[in-house]
Amino acid sequence: MDKLKLHAETLLTHSGREHDQIGGTVNTPVYRASTLLFPSVSALQSVQGTLNTYGRHGSPTTRSLERALCDLEGAGGAMLTPSGLSAVTTALLANLSPGDHLLMTDSVYDPTRAFCNETLARFGIETTYYDPTIGAGIAELMQPNTKVVFLETPGSLTFEMQDVPAISEVAHAHHAIVIIDNTWGTPVNFASFKYGADISVHAATKYIVGHSDVLMGVIMTTEALYPKVRTFYKQLGVSVSGDDAYLALRGMRTLAARLDRHQSSAAAVMDWLKTQPEVDQILSPVLPGNQGHEIWKRDFTGSNGLFGVLLKPASDAAMSAMLDGLQIFGMGYSWGGFESLIIPANPSAIRTATSWKATGPLIRLHIGLENPKDLIADLNLAFGRLREANR
Ligand SMILES: *Cc1c(COP(=O)(O)O)cnc(C)c1O
Repeated sequence: MDKLKLHAETLLTHSGREHDQIGGTVNTPVYRASTLLFPSVSALQSVQGTLNTYGRHGSPTTRSLERALCDLEGAGGAMLTPSGLSAVTTALLANLSPGDHLLMTDSVYDPTRAFCNETLARFGIETTYYDPTIGAGIAELMQPNTKVVFLETPGSLTFEMQDVPAISEVAHAHHAIVIIDNTWGTPVNFASFKYGADISVHAATKYIVGHSDVLMGVIMTTEALYPKVRTFYKQLGVSVSGDDAYLALRGMRTLAARLDRHQSSAAAVMDWLKTQPEVDQILSPVLPGNQGHEIWKRDFTGSNGLFGVLLKPASDAAMSAMLDGLQIFGMGYSWGGFESLIIPANPSAIRTATSWKATGPLIRLHIGLENPKDLIADLNLAFGRLREANR
């Protein structure tokens, strides 16, 4: 199969199934193994330096998932990690040394920020945060020791879109590499490598796994960077189980179909939210007129179920009354599963390069695979409680 000619839906259905199918099964079976046995000294010696010596280096199950991910996003190589955050931290540590400088988007996932401020600082690596909408203006922040420019587009709490090609061009001109947290984009909707990424990291926990039952991360790299990152990853001793890899691959087979539904249901819910007087602004690049809408249209092939809603000022008691009574939406961190979620959020404490100017509360919604009419009915009652409590 010539991979380049296939569409995402077809790759999702077929990739990672090419190798030895034991017993002719459609799916690659779960391999559970720490130990691999060799029939002779020469067989043992023949695998030295390869991934086929020991269970920690993967199995046919993990390699099926890695291959499918690479096919989908157009990467040279992939590595699986036990969580999205460990994909971020491993990718950063593989490419930074004491004395290096990192440029980090101010809209980044908060635990990534904590890792930079505490662990990277402890190793003598300096982080400068930048306005996510900076574009080519990032040139002014580049230093001779800037080795990595890190992006997350859109921000998964505040939804600023970043101009990936413009930032990548500047980074590459200064011999820095570009790492993108592409969790929102997914390998289906944002072909990060085509737009300048050298490394793409994902919380597979979200849409790739898609069923809220596995924590996993993915690091994908260009072919050029793969040996360096794989060596570091191997030395850290990071690996995932065959069972988790199997579940991730099984979830991923339906990724495009699920994203379509998440996206259309989110659009229906957003249309309804626009009619609510308590809504100040919807944060999502899919809406015309919003920051980054043109970038999203230019670079992405679709969206998903995650967006933010800025409300007009409301008391804490009114927010509790609104959110506590929800019957279909669950309250919890994470997103990307089949179920709808909602959380209140306050980004003002996690900004340093920019300031969060909203005067009212922010809520983040993940629109799941329920019928959107039921979700709107749940929200309608919630807005009724908010209105009542705010009187
Ligand atoms: C959830 C998330 C992560 C971390 O993933 P875990 O699997 O929870 O560790 C990283 N980046 C983004 C954008 C996320 O939403």
